[in-house]
Amino acid sequence: MSLSQTNKAYIWHPFTQQKTAADAIIITHGKATSLFDAVGKEYLDLISSWWVNLHGHSHPKIAAALQKQAETLEHVMFAGFTHEPAIKFAQQLVELLPASLQRVFYSDNGSTAVEVAVKMALQYWHNKGINKKRLIAFEGAYHGDTFGAMSLGKSSGFYGPFIDYLFEVDFLDYPQTWINDQDVAAKEAKILAQFDQLIAQRGHEIAALIIEPLVQGSAGMRMCRPEFLDAVIQRCYANDILVIYDEVMTGFGRTGTLFACQQQKEIPDFVCLSKGITGGFLPLAATVTSEKIYESFLSHTFDKAFTHGHSYTANPLGCAAAIASLALFTEEQTFEKIDMIHQLHKERVTKLQASGLVQHGRVCGTIAAMDVNLAQTQYGSPLSQLLRQAFLEEGLNLRPLGNVVYLMPPYCITSQQLHYAYDVVEKVLSSCYEGLK
Ligand SMILES: *Cc1c(COP(=O)(O)O)cnc(C)c1O
Repeated sequence: MSLSQTNKAYIWHPFTQQKTAADAIIITHGKATSLFDAVGKEYLDLISSWWVNLHGHSHPKIAAALQKQAETLEHVMFAGFTHEPAIKFAQQLVELLPASLQRVFYSDNGSTAVEVAVKMALQYWHNKGINKKRLIAFEGAYHGDTFGAMSLGKSSGFYGPFIDYLFEVDFLDYPQTWINDQDVAAKEAKILAQFDQLIAQRGHEIAALIIEPLVQGSAGMRMCRPEFLDAVIQRCYANDILVIYDEVMTGFGRTGTLFACQQQKEIPDFVCLSKGITGGFLPLAATVTSEKIYESFLSHTFDKAFTHGHSYTANPLGCAAAIASLALFTEEQTFEKIDMIHQLHKERVTKLQASGLVQHGRVCGTIAAMDVNLAQTQYGSPLSQLLRQAFLEEGLNLRPLGNVVYLMPPYCITSQQLHYAYDVVEKVLSSCYEGLK
C-alpha cells in the first residue's frame, strides 16, 4: 500500500468528514513559512498550522534546544519533582504578563488550559465557602473540545450530539467589529446592558466569565475593541465575578502585543495559553493566575488543594521549546515582523474590500479576516471546501471558516510571500464570482 492508502486505512482525522474529504496531503518537511508535500509541491502555511506556528517551520534554534533537552531530561512527573526548563519558563511568563498574574499551572493543550482555569475559578469560591456556580461565556466562543470547554462553546454549533451532557452557561453576544464600523459603540452598549441585566438577575450566583479577548478565533476571527473588554472586566470586578482570558489563540504576538490583555487597562484573574507557546513544536499549555486565587487553595488539609494534573504536565521538551521560542522574539526582532504583517494586512484587506469581493474586513495584529460576499456558509460547507481546495491548488494553506477567509501567517513570512498570497486570494475569489454569473 502507498503511504496515502495506509493513511486512509488506519487514520481518523480531526474535524473531518472522512467520507467526503479529499485525501490528506502528506507533508514531508517544512521550512520557515513553507510546507512541502511528497511530490515536492510547496504550500505557504498562511494559517500557521491551526494557529500554532510562530517563527516558521523547523526553526533551527528551537530544534537545537529540543535536541539538547532530549539528551538531558525528556520528562519527569511534575508532582514532587520539578526541573529547570519549567521553572525558567514560568518565571519568564510571569515577568512578561501583567504584574498580578504570578502563578503558573502547566498542562498540555488549549482545552486543558481552559478546564484548569474554570475548575480553579469554581474551586476558588468553593474553598471560600461561597455559593457561586454559574459561568458566563460569549456567543460563538470556542474554548476547546473537552466537556467543560464544549459547555462554554455550546453556541458554536459543533456539539449537537453532546448537548444534553453540557452544563448550563449564560451567553452574551460578542460585539464583532470591522474596519470603518460606524455602529460599534452602539453594539457594545447593547451587550453591556444585557450583561447589567444578567448581573441584576443573578450576579451573586456567577462564579466567572470567560472570553477570547480581542479575537474570537473559531467563530470566524470576530474582533472586538479593548474598550469593550475593560468595560466587561469592570462590571465583573464590581460584582465579584472572576475573569478568565482564553488567550490560547491570541497569545504570543498574534494580536500585535505579546498578549491581548496588554492592550487594555483591566487585568483578568486567569490567562490560558497554549498553541503558539512552543513556537508550534510541541503540545504545552499554561494557566496563569494571581496570588489571590492561589492563596485560596492553601490549607493544612488536602481538601482545598487543586486535584488536577496530566501525565505530561510541564514536559521539559515543551518547556525548552517554549524558552527558545520566546528568545526568538528578541533575537529576530519579531515585533518588527509583526508590524510589517499588520501594515500589509491593512493595505490589502482595504483593497480587497474596495473591489467588492469581500465585506467586514478586519485586522488585529497578524490576523486578517473578511467575509466573502457569497451565500452564507457553515463550517465545512461546500463553499469553504471549494475555496480551500482552490487555495491549495495555488499553493496556499488557507482554510476558510464558513464564509470567512482569514490569513494568520507565521511571523517569518516575507512581504513578497504575503503579497503573493493576497494576489491569489483576489484571483480565486474573482473566479468564484465569475463562476456564479
Ligand atoms: C484552539 C483553541 C482552544 C483549544 O486548544 P486545543 O489545543 O486545540 O485543545 C481553546 N481556546 C481557543 C481560543 C482556541 O483557539
